[in-house]
Order: sequence, then structure tokens, then C-alpha cells
Amino acid sequence: MAATAHFEVAVIGGGAAGIVAAIASKCSGRSVVICERLPRLGKKILASGNGRCNLLNENLSEFFYNPSARHLVKSIFSKFGKPEIATFFKVLGLHTYCEEGRIFPATNQSSSVLKVLEMGLKRLSVPVEYDFQVENVAASASGFLLSSASGRKVSCSALIIASGGKSYPALGSDGSCYKFAGEFGHAITAPVPAAVPLTAKDPICHILQGQKIFASAKAVVDGNTVGEADGEVLFTKYGLSGTAILDISRDISVAVNRLHSKSAVVVLDMTPFMDEPELRTELARRLKDGFPPEELIAGILPNKFGAALAGLLETKDAAAIAKALKSKEFTITGTRGWNEADFTAGGVAASEIEPETMESRLKKGLYFAGEIVDVDGCRGGYNLAWAWASGYVAGQSAAGRQI
Ligand SMILES: Cc1cc2nc3c(=O)[nH]c(=O)nc-3n(C[C@H](O)[C@H](O)[C@H](O)COP(=O)(O)OP(=O)(O)OC[C@H]3O[C@@H](n4cnc5c(N)ncnc54)[C@H](O)[C@@H]3O)c2cc1C
Repeated sequence: MAATAHFEVAVIGGGAAGIVAAIASKCSGRSVVICERLPRLGKKILASGNGRCNLLNENLSEFFYNPSARHLVKSIFSKFGKPEIATFFKVLGLHTYCEEGRIFPATNQSSSVLKVLEMGLKRLSVPVEYDFQVENVAASASGFLLSSASGRKVSCSALIIASGGKSYPALGSDGSCYKFAGEFGHAITAPVPAAVPLTAKDPICHILQGQKIFASAKAVVDGNTVGEADGEVLFTKYGLSGTAILDISRDISVAVNRLHSKSAVVVLDMTPFMDEPELRTELARRLKDGFPPEELIAGILPNKFGAALAGLLETKDAAAIAKALKSKEFTITGTRGWNEADFTAGGVAASEIEPETMESRLKKGLYFAGEIVDVDGCRGGYNLAWAWASGYVAGQSAAGRQI
């Protein structure tokens, strides 16, 4: 593009939210462009759901999101919720199936989801400016002027910022656009990694690295329980991972990285399938039978746990051992950071966004969509659902305003 091209709507970011926003604007009859810093669209969609893309959940409601965003989320889902998202993808040509409430493409390949979105853009002739790293956004007489790192320019009447959060920067979203929101006066809730493995100070993590168990995990911050989840726990050389840990990691990450709380602890019930009296009785029976420490928990936990917990098992006190196995504490020192976080908690304050339209309450013609907003959902398709829904409402609203 030599001279500055003008579009009625420009979208920063060609991820889940940006692509849907562009489709919605174009379907409403507006000229629209996507400015994407990478040489291709939707890299994070491809990585999602371990390559399967859990694109939606049957049970969609605001209660699966951070409390401070629920008002906004509820309003957006009332306009573009589960049935509308499902129909949108059906019309694009995507077949899906549901597994325990989680919706996946029938092909089990995230590339199918990206492909139908790209076909949608192609059908509507939406232009994409690739390798367009937006470095500057200025208000202009006709709306906004975007400048890229290499000096390319795009002007637009309405602007949708859909540049994602800070997680997995290699997939495109490095948090570089929070500053634009800030320049228009928006408060940014400090972004922290969410759905992320945790680092813990406990030698047993290192000894048990690679071992997986089914456990109940509790996040305890400054003595208060802030989250609970059942599921897989994976011991790693640096700490804890697995689905149960990812599920409770958000509140721990907020405590450690944003609130700088005094203590963050994960408490594991390593034998959720046995209550404490039952476990105590079984341990007492084995102690009475003279089994050595390493065999006290054989068949209850993987064999390696016998050696890893030798210090505890040598006490020969059934009650103390049962209690420790049902409430093993791990002091959390931090998270594994942005390169291992599935999403971001924090971003543009939800209270500063119009819940009917996704338009900024501070700057007319400016819209936000997707993970750049301080909205984070549970794992299970909720973050992509937010990206599609907020993208659609932002795209349609930006197109519908008087330009
Ligand atoms: C490994 C992984 C697995 C996941 N799995 C799931 C899942 O199964 N289900 C689920 O619901 N959620 C999942 N998520 C979360 C979900 O993918 C994201 O919440 C969602 O993709 C966010 O969409 P977005 O469009 O807001 O941002 P992104 O998808 O991050 O897109 C933002 C786009 O903006 C571009 N961009 C950024 N800055 C600029 C700039 N300055 N100029 C131009 N372009 C820019 C980026 O290159 C990127 O293409 C997963 C995330 C990860 C990392």
C-alpha cells in the first residue's frame, strides 16, 4: 500500500476476535481491513486445545468469567451467545461435536476452524495487511491513523483493537497494544499469566517429576481458599502442572504477580478417592502387618511416591500420614510465565467498555474485542467463546455507527 488507504473500519489483530470482528463489519456493508503483525492469521487458534481447538462450551454464561467482567460478558452473550456462535460457525461450514460440554471441530483439528474463518474473509473480500505491526495509533479528523513499524499507514473511521493479551508472545500477542488503550485514557488491570503451571519450593516435585495423579487441588492465599479444582496433577522439576493446577492457577497468579500477597499455597488431597478415616484404617492395617515405609502407600499412590515421601512414612503414625496425604501443602513461588500461560488475566478495564457495543466509554469510534479486555474465562472453550462473541458485537457495532 503506497499512499494511506482509508477504510470505514480497521481491526488491529487477526486472531479469533479480530477475524470475526472483520467478518461482522463487512457483512454489515462496511469496508474493513485487518492489520496483523505476523505473516499469517490466527496462529493462536492453531495452537488452541492442543491442536484440537475447544472453540465453545455448551454451558455458556458470565459465571465462568472473572467477577469484575460479568456485567459486560452477560450483555455480550445476550447478543451473541452460544446459539449464535454455533450458527456462525455452521454457516461458515464448520462441523462440530461436543465432548462433556466442550465443543470441538468434527475434524479434531484447529486448522479446520482457522480455514473456515479464512474462507469467510475471502468470500467477503476482506483485505489483510500482513507484517503490519501497529506501532502508533493517532486520533485524526476522519477517525484514526494507524502507522506500522515499517512506515505503512492505514486510516479508518472506526477502530477495533483485537490484539490479544500477553500469553504465548511467539503466537503474536505480546501486549504491545495496551499502550494504545492507555493513550486514550483507559485503565489497564495489570495483566498476569493464567492457566499456567506453578513453581513450588518442595523437593518432592523434583523427585516425582513426570508423575501424574488424580487429585483435588486448593489454592490458598494468605490463609483463604480462593479456588478449588479436581483433576490431573503433574509433578515437574520446577513445581506443579496438570489440569487441576491450570484451573486454580489464575487466582494464585493474581495473588503472586499482581497483589504481591504474603503467601500462596497449593493444598493437594492426593487421595480424593478415599476419605481420611478409610485411609487411616488402611495405613494402620499395613503398619500392623509390618510393611516397610515404601510399601505403606503402594496401590494407593504410584510406587515412586513411597520413596519420595519416605520422611513422612517413617513416622509410622497412620493418622499423621493420612492427614498429610489428604492435605499436602506446596508453597508457591511464582508461575512459569507468559510462554506457558494459555491466557491473560487483566487488560483493558471492562467497566470502561459499553456493554451494548464494545465501544470505549472514553473515545468514540474506538472498540475492543477479545483477550485485550480484562475478561478471562475458565478453561473449556470459554476464552475463545469470549473472543468470537466480543469480536462479533464490536464488528457489527463499529459498522453500525454513523460514519
Ligand atoms: C496454547 C493455547 C491453547 C489454548 N486453547 C484454548 C482452547 O482450547 N479454548 C479456548 O477457549 N481458549 C484457548 N486458549 C485461549 C484462546 O486461544 C485466546 O483467549 C484467544 O485466541 C484470544 O483471541 P484474541 O483474538 O483476543 O487474541 P489472539 O488470538 O492473541 O490474536 C491477537 C492477534 O493480534 C496480533 N497483534 C498483536 N499485536 C499487534 C500489533 N501491534 N499490530 C498488529 N497485530 C498485532 C497478533 O499477532 C495476533 O494475531 C488457548 C491459548 C493458548 C496460548
